[in-house]
Amino acid sequence: MAAPFSWIRPEPHGIHVVPADCWIDPSQPVANALVTHGHADHARGGHGRTMATAETLAIMELRYQTREGALPVAYGETIGLPGGVDATFVPAGHVLGSAQIVLEHAGERVVVTGDYKRRPDPTCPPFECVPCDVFVTEATFGLPVFCHPPIEREIGKLLKARADHPDRCVLVGAYALGKAQRLIAELRRAGHHEPIWLHGAMERMCRLYEDFGVALGDLRLVGDATKDQLRGAIVICPPSALNDRWSRRLPDPITAMASGWMRVRQRARQRMVELPLVISDHADWGELTATIEEVNPAESWITHGREEALLRWCQLHQRRARALALVGYEDEDD
Ligand SMILES: [Zn+2]
Ligand SMILES: [Zn+2]
Repeated sequence: MAAPFSWIRPEPHGIHVVPADCWIDPSQPVANALVTHGHADHARGGHGRTMATAETLAIMELRYQTREGALPVAYGETIGLPGGVDATFVPAGHVLGSAQIVLEHAGERVVVTGDYKRRPDPTCPPFECVPCDVFVTEATFGLPVFCHPPIEREIGKLLKARADHPDRCVLVGAYALGKAQRLIAELRRAGHHEPIWLHGAMERMCRLYEDFGVALGDLRLVGDATKDQLRGAIVICPPSALNDRWSRRLPDPITAMASGWMRVRQRARQRMVELPLVISDHADWGELTATIEEVNPAESWITHGREEALLRWCQLHQRRARALALVGYEDEDD
């Protein structure tokens, strides 16, 4: 009999499901890819076949202008891969279409979380706990210092800054996939129904979310606004546009940024952010450790961030664990 879990191999360029010759979130073009979600460090173009949720495939099509070899898999659906491997996509609660991939072979079950979070998010279905033998978990915010505040508190800060400065605008830097739409949906939930103004680079992704049934309310383009229309307004742009020439057209903007990294003062200072908003689409330290306890796997494989601290936590709690050295991950999606 083969050694336990020998059919699934972490390689530098992705996780290889050997009997099926499939790769999970490969960083190089492969014949068969299983993709957890649309962020660029997980979803690359150029694969022969790409198996992902319809939402993730639509996001990839928007980015790479091709749907060649796209094979949609619905949440909860199990597909049979070659070599007797079954794959099921389960919600990860990270961004629209994000999935954990549950792999079953020879009586063993492996769950690859991709990126995930445990907090409610009006733009995607919540993370589901799946019991398994091997739990491959992300660890982007895998340090005890990371404890994300309630999102209502951060949204409250944003709305207060706007109310306190009716002659200025609040300019929020937010990643174009996921963070921007969650921020807009949470503003609507908090009762803010006025137009929200977008940098041109955010528009298509917001429309894609709406095509999949996520209502975002009245969205308009900054390019169509007069300076006076933007006084007292909320404007959303990609983080890269926060301090560039583009923002000069805005009325004395209060610079904000929505990211889990805003917990680190130095990062806020680097970006010259006046109003740091700690809003993350990843599990924080408490949620990473609680999720391992809840899933209760025989082994945890840790990847994608601060592996050492979580590895140490597992050891202290008599849990088998190892750190994977996967290449090609960035923090596009924090
Ligand atoms: Zn990621
Ligand atoms: Zn991500």
